[in-house]
Amino acid sequence: MRQYLDVKARYPDAIVFFRLGDFYEMFYEDAVYVARALDLTLTSRDKGKEDPVPMCGIPHHAARGYLAKLMELGHRVALCEQLEDPKLARGIVRRDVVRVVTPGVILDEEALDPRAPQFVAAVLGEPRQGYGLAFLDVTTGDFRATEASTLEALLDELARAEPRELVVGRGAGDLAAALRRGYPRVPQTNVADDDIAGASAVNPGAELAQRAPQAVAAAARVLRYARSTQPGITLALGRLDFFRRTDTLILDEQARAHLELTETILERKRSGSLLEVLDETRSAMGGRLLRRWLLFPLVDVAAIRRRQDGVERLVLAHAARDAARQVLSDMADLERLVGRARLGVASPRDLVALGRSLALLPALGETLRAAARAEFPVATGAGPDDDLLSLGDDLAPDLAASLAVTLRPDAPALTKDGGYIAAGISAELDELSAIASGGRETVTRIEARERERTGISNLKIRHNSVFGYYIEISRSQLPHVPADYVRKQTVANAERFVTPELGEYEQKILSADERRITIELEIFTRLRDGIAAAADRLLTLAARVAAVDALACLAEVAHRGGYCRPLVDDSGIIDIADGRHPVVERLAAAGAFVPNDVRLDPDNEQILIVTGPNMAGKSTLIRQVALTVILSQMGSFVPARAARIGICDRVFTRVGAGDNLARGESTFLVEMRETAHILRYATARSLIILDEIGRGTSTYDGVSIAWAVAEHLHDRVRAKTLFATHYHELCALGDLHPRVRNVSVAAREWKGEVVFLRKLSPGGASRSFGIQVAKLAGLPAVVVDRARAILQTLEGDGGTAAAGLPRSAAPGGNESPQLGLFGGAPADSPAPVDETAAEVLAALRALDPDDLTPRAALDLVAAWRKKLTTPS
Ligand code: ADP
Ligand code: MG
Repeated sequence: MRQYLDVKARYPDAIVFFRLGDFYEMFYEDAVYVARALDLTLTSRDKGKEDPVPMCGIPHHAARGYLAKLMELGHRVALCEQLEDPKLARGIVRRDVVRVVTPGVILDEEALDPRAPQFVAAVLGEPRQGYGLAFLDVTTGDFRATEASTLEALLDELARAEPRELVVGRGAGDLAAALRRGYPRVPQTNVADDDIAGASAVNPGAELAQRAPQAVAAAARVLRYARSTQPGITLALGRLDFFRRTDTLILDEQARAHLELTETILERKRSGSLLEVLDETRSAMGGRLLRRWLLFPLVDVAAIRRRQDGVERLVLAHAARDAARQVLSDMADLERLVGRARLGVASPRDLVALGRSLALLPALGETLRAAARAEFPVATGAGPDDDLLSLGDDLAPDLAASLAVTLRPDAPALTKDGGYIAAGISAELDELSAIASGGRETVTRIEARERERTGISNLKIRHNSVFGYYIEISRSQLPHVPADYVRKQTVANAERFVTPELGEYEQKILSADERRITIELEIFTRLRDGIAAAADRLLTLAARVAAVDALACLAEVAHRGGYCRPLVDDSGIIDIADGRHPVVERLAAAGAFVPNDVRLDPDNEQILIVTGPNMAGKSTLIRQVALTVILSQMGSFVPARAARIGICDRVFTRVGAGDNLARGESTFLVEMRETAHILRYATARSLIILDEIGRGTSTYDGVSIAWAVAEHLHDRVRAKTLFATHYHELCALGDLHPRVRNVSVAAREWKGEVVFLRKLSPGGASRSFGIQVAKLAGLPAVVVDRARAILQTLEGDGGTAAAGLPRSAAPGGNESPQLGLFGGAPADSPAPVDETAAEVLAALRALDPDDLTPRAALDLVAAWRKKLTTPS
């Protein structure tokens, strides 16, 4: 127990899995907790003594499943192994922690999502100095760092990295609390604040250390943390990749969630997201890279065009694309295999897979050259030097060959029984194998000889693990057993004997076998170290393969979906002809999706007010514009007939009723906070998607807020904005401000039914079709009829305001007294407000027809009419 307590004292924050023979045992509170959490039987050690120690255990070969569950619960587990063979140990077997498994540092394949990175992130900083953020994927060596000037920006970047675990300094009270609020689902690990100055571990280069000290400090912290989880080895890693937030299209958490880039907003499922539509990658590496391209789109025109060139070439070269994708389907996860080699956990089977994948590279290279020879009309990108459709000159044939000759293709997953090193690698090994297989012949020979000598024709030599080789004689033949046989065991119908000769032979085989396993392990370890030493070379290659996969995927998607190559430039103009929504289109029946043109231009058509009845397609339209911009900037083709996309610096969204219930805030508060965030950070190069803002409050407040926000965007921010609203009042903005345009998604009434045309047309929507939609939704016919009558009364009464139609909204046009809220004058000299009309309007809007008897409705109409006709 002393040994256990020592280990536990060194890993107080982890559950200690203490290896005893074939089991991992847990003790004390660890045992009590884990027994309950994993539904294990709690027993105790030293039962009957005064203070029995609570204990529970799991078979070591089943540990992975249990580990995965503990990680899901946010725990860390220290694996304490036996460091010597108990048979050979004198006294207590030496044991120590060989690695700590944490939610962010898991190496077991089963627990990893092959298509997502496995980041552990470290964060530090405070408001005055700014923040540093670094994230590290131990399974691939992907290691990146950045800085953020505000907590908000920090949280956005963290959300985008999707870390599995956050490492925070013990002293970081406020920051730790903010992170717990922002990421309740991501486990947080607190580490000592000391020696961040030891950033030399990261080796960032003097220039970077000066330029981005917080990023470097965060990188040092995450690296030190990751190293602390692998005490047995020195964790070698690739270069630290420093990036600036502005190097990519900024997508904050709202935009990422609302646009459903990687998962749907309500169910948090991949199915129904843009990524799902887009992900035609064939390899795990390609899948991860595509996800990264999607979450970190580019802002550099040349870099985007380089990707487009790659996609275009593979769109045109069908045959090469198919061939490349075929090869890629057989490609193992080079990055994670190299990562496992580097961490010393790669199995023989892992290295066989690595070798097979490397052997595929020449074929892949050949298909890419074929694609390059194919006709390629447009060449806007860079020269062949940084061609993305190339694997480079070094396909690591030396490593592929040495893996292929050294390992047996049928190598087992574990090293413990040997049997994975091929013949011809080591003369000694071959000899030992000959003894083992020669063994069978020897046994047959002895068996034949003994049969002859004893005259027992059914004499058999067998083997078991208890006493090795033995001779079995059936009961009836016992009188013929010679004197030199030594009886060992009696079984049902026979007796078992050994002889000195068999004993000696047994020994020889055993030692040959042991020696063979040792030699195999030596050869294997050398091979694995060789791969680890070549990690940089292999990872460069893996990155090229991943890029080819991602480009081939985008080409496949473009080909199948009829996408076009957008013209990407710095014009600031967004001009989409026959654009579609990539996800809604996929879900709709073939050909059922109605394409639309959208043009935004900072100098003329900066703000589009999109009106139209419920279900017309407003939300779909404005999102499809945002998605088209994101697709363009990641280098993809887009679902449109033609498109010109001026680079955006950021995409903002404020969409619908995205209740943030987890944070316990009201819808309206969240909505206003998100809107405030947009007004504060948007620039003239941003794209803003506003869907029904102001909806979370009363109509009157809502329209006012929406109006003011639109004006601010027009006059100050000048960001390109798509504003979907069912407040028709906002159409008046189009007449008041030069860069605001009204468009509407059309619907027609046909025989009393609403027909959605899904087609965008200039001008605001003239009517809301609320009653038709209500009918569509199954409101009883009598109520629908009554509502129609009420509506007629209201409209017939000249109550334009009551009907929500700001008819005379031309500047200065004050001829209609009921015009209400926003008619007429520019906003800096507000027009007088007809409060009575607005009140009636608000009451009408707030009304739930389902709760109304015809009588009550009639009373209401009478009351309203009275209000409107009686001068106040
Ligand atoms: P709104 O925001 O105006 O209420 P939505 O954008 O939510 O309307 O669209 C309602 C439904 O109409 C969507 O679920 C979608 O299936 C369908 N839809 C939207 N736009 C189109 C289109 N252009 N072509 C075909 N169907 C569409
Ligand atoms: Mg909508």
